[in-house]
Amino acid sequence: MNLVALPAFSDNLIWMLHDGSQALVVDPGDSAPVLAALTEWQLVLSGILVTHHHGDHTGGIEALRPVLQGPVWGPARESIPQPFTPLSAGQSLEWQGLRFEVLDVPGHTAGHIAFWAQPAGQAPVLFCGDTMFSGGCGRLFEGTPAQMHHSLMQLAALPAESRVCCAHEYTLSNLRFALAVEPDNQDLLRYVDHCTAVRERGEFTLPSSIGLERLINPFLRCALPGPRQAALQQGAGSAAEVDVFAALRLWKNNFR
Ligand SMILES: [Zn+2]
Ligand SMILES: [Zn+2]
Repeated sequence: MNLVALPAFSDNLIWMLHDGSQALVVDPGDSAPVLAALTEWQLVLSGILVTHHHGDHTGGIEALRPVLQGPVWGPARESIPQPFTPLSAGQSLEWQGLRFEVLDVPGHTAGHIAFWAQPAGQAPVLFCGDTMFSGGCGRLFEGTPAQMHHSLMQLAALPAESRVCCAHEYTLSNLRFALAVEPDNQDLLRYVDHCTAVRERGEFTLPSSIGLERLINPFLRCALPGPRQAALQQGAGSAAEVDVFAALRLWKNNFR
């Protein structure tokens, strides 16, 4: 199974899985890059996964329906273009023999879902939309810090080798914030150098992996002394993990 990131708008990534004949795309905010890829590689679009209702994740669905030979799978508790097959936690779907588990990950939006699957002989893939980014997490538009923290902990508990396919290339700006939280994190310092070089070559830093995010993403590290101290200095209500998470998220909102 091939995994490809199709860039859209200024910083969106539309992920495509394909086996050389059938293709699945995730969060097609725009149809143009998907149609171009289908033509270039002569693929049939046989499924669309949608993580949440925002326009930069759903805007291309209607224009793809004429070529779509399969379902649109989306979040049961959100409004996305009909018709679609609604899914929530504990349910699964199958595409080309590949079984995707569905997770409820509210916080960025109220009904946000994520998809995890393990292609045969390959590392698992996680399509997490705007819940987790490399080095960061989504803004809390519709959920509480407690919900988002719980969602991120679910993702952090997935197998370490899982490939993190998030929907935006925000990594370098997230890592600048991560360094403010944990200036002495050696894994983070090394990863900043790596990602700076990757971006200078014009490449994407994604997918990352769950194992890597556990080492460098401050929002997954709220139980550790460094992020806890930094959050307390920023006025966290207590050293409890959820309060640490809330303070980091608030700090990041205003971080330049
Ligand atoms: Zn969003
Ligand atoms: Zn988005």
